[in-house]
Amino acid sequence: MGAASLTIDLDAICANWAALDALSTAHVETAAVIKADAYGLGAARVGPALAAKGVRSFCVAVAEEGRVLRRALGEGPDIYVFAGHMAGDTGLIEEADLIPMLNAPEQVVRHMEALPGHGFGVQLDTGMNRLGLEPDDWAALRDDLMQAGPRLVISHLACADEPDHPMNAQQLRAFREMTDGVAHRRALSATGGTLLGPEYHFDMVRPGVGLYGGLPFADARPVVRIDLPVIQTRIVRPFETVGYGNAWDAHVESRIATVAAGYADGLIRAMGDAAQVFAGDVPCPVVGRVSMDLITVDVSHLDEVPDSLEILGPHQGVDDLADAAGTIGYEILTSLGPRYNRSYTGGA
Ligand SMILES: *Cc1c(COP(=O)(O)O)cnc(C)c1O
Repeated sequence: MGAASLTIDLDAICANWAALDALSTAHVETAAVIKADAYGLGAARVGPALAAKGVRSFCVAVAEEGRVLRRALGEGPDIYVFAGHMAGDTGLIEEADLIPMLNAPEQVVRHMEALPGHGFGVQLDTGMNRLGLEPDDWAALRDDLMQAGPRLVISHLACADEPDHPMNAQQLRAFREMTDGVAHRRALSATGGTLLGPEYHFDMVRPGVGLYGGLPFADARPVVRIDLPVIQTRIVRPFETVGYGNAWDAHVESRIATVAAGYADGLIRAMGDAAQVFAGDVPCPVVGRVSMDLITVDVSHLDEVPDSLEILGPHQGVDDLADAAGTIGYEILTSLGPRYNRSYTGGA
């Protein structure tokens, strides 16, 4: 077994969902965002595990993801598509029974012409300027859309991971101005907004990253564990170097372990020697550059080198690794790649 192992704890994902769900009152539904293949962890496993715990609404980015998820979930749960009703998606939306979040006037026209009577949602722009109907478009289309009866009216916060950012209150105000009086269900918040408090909950919250153990949900249970098999160890003498570019040199005689994963597995090169791995509870520094398939680690201080070293898990979470690489937990998770020996625990 040369490849590194990636273990995904489905019970921890379900527990994180339940903990986020408990932050809002009973009338607020907690959906689950499982776009990008459940943030890299496998929507076909994560979706059914959450559905079994009572999750009734799921969100994906594009219709193709919705089709895969529908196969895994079967009939029943709602699947919302953030990209809305794109040209060419009509057949998919109908067959997989997806709910497109219409976000531009062209999409409204396309949906009403191609699939009149088929469920849809509306996404409004409240200042992020990424997706959603602009206030003027909304004003022009609002009556027709309200008559057709959207399943959900949403917007998305740009700065919810910074609770004190004035943008949060500004977008909340804009969302209220645009939707107060609307008789249909409303939703504004992802993980960050869910943590901002009840004003931000409306009728539904839709966390993603918090389910998978990432910030801003600081109380999340860790979900992912990665163990890297040690392929070989060697003694490196003073002034000898390790890895590409001679980026590290030994000042004292050192024992170096070479482990089986690299940037092709999403252990991105930028983390370099700011990262560490763990032998049980003992941290071991990464030395030299991260290669495509290999990482080198200083294990001089260990009495015994174990068969594998942990790079993600209880000792070092996705956000710790992200910090070392100058990125965010979301990017670590979605970069993990197909080469691991993947296994799932829990979820029964
Ligand atoms: C990705 C996304 C979410 C989930 O965001 P997290 O920060 O991962 O909780 C919710 N809503 C929309 C519109 C998104 O694009």
